[in-house]
Amino acid sequence: MTNRIKQECKQLGFDGCGIARIETLSEEMERYKQWLEAGYNGEMAYLERYTELRADPSKLVPGAKSMIVVLLNYYPKERLRLKRYKISSYAWGIDYHRVIKRKLWDLYSFIKKFEPLTEGRAFVDSAPVLEREWARRAGLGWIGKNGLLLTKRGSYNFIGELIINLELVYDKPFEKNYCGSCRRCIDSCPTGALLGNGLMDARKCLSYLTIEKRGEFEPETNLHNWAFGCDVCQQVCPWNNRARPTHVEEFNPSDEMKQLTDERLESLSKAEFKHLFKQTPIMRTGYKGLMRNIKQIKRFEQ
Ligand code: SF4
Ligand code: SF4
Repeated sequence: MTNRIKQECKQLGFDGCGIARIETLSEEMERYKQWLEAGYNGEMAYLERYTELRADPSKLVPGAKSMIVVLLNYYPKERLRLKRYKISSYAWGIDYHRVIKRKLWDLYSFIKKFEPLTEGRAFVDSAPVLEREWARRAGLGWIGKNGLLLTKRGSYNFIGELIINLELVYDKPFEKNYCGSCRRCIDSCPTGALLGNGLMDARKCLSYLTIEKRGEFEPETNLHNWAFGCDVCQQVCPWNNRARPTHVEEFNPSDEMKQLTDERLESLSKAEFKHLFKQTPIMRTGYKGLMRNIKQIKRFEQ
């Protein structure tokens, strides 16, 4: 069944697939709890919930045995025209949650054809799963000093998981770390958010500030022209020189997105915002959030 699953993952277009044995994540949870205690999660209170589920995925799926972890490369082959404002590249195309969930459910149906008693659940970027650690355990890569999962093709991958109650053949965890003495991400982070040990102070991170933070900014908050998210710690990573353009057409910007100019972004109405971004991850910050970010960028430049 393991080989069939891996073959099917290729058929479905995933760029990586590894399988880890379900175990309790004691050490990682200890680190995670310390991170929360230090307040590095900022206003993201939802990260404090589900700690039991995070530690033990068998609480998510009764009798869970295997975590199938998949990767989907999203590195867009086309660029935006924006000059002054920056938008993280994962948000240029269709919301990845839908794309990956759809494929994971197809994989689940495929498994059930052979093993009808299989029970499982699919997750994409979901609070109860420590997805990067599971990807490492499934042999897909290492966790870089930027806190992201790195493969030898870089970090521009979405991660998804299918937890099932079926015993499979497990991949060897990825034990090496190919960051070596490099610290480009740490030194290039515009706000000093990376702590050097693979952890990040989300309160300083521009991704958090532009997407998750509610309310107004302090006048001195510099968004470094990022209107949504931030890609700096990926852009400077030497492993990303090896990134190949995605084969998922939906992750590329639409024609209208490609035509977006700084002037149009600044003057978008709510209706235009909805029309332009309705299927993209940018909906997460909402019209008010995006406009707040733009206002802050302008304010800081004055
Ligand atoms: S996303 Fe940007 S702000 Fe956040 S850690 Fe990376 S470089 Fe720093
Ligand atoms: S920039 Fe260097 S240190 Fe940071 S994740 Fe990439 S290889 Fe590792």
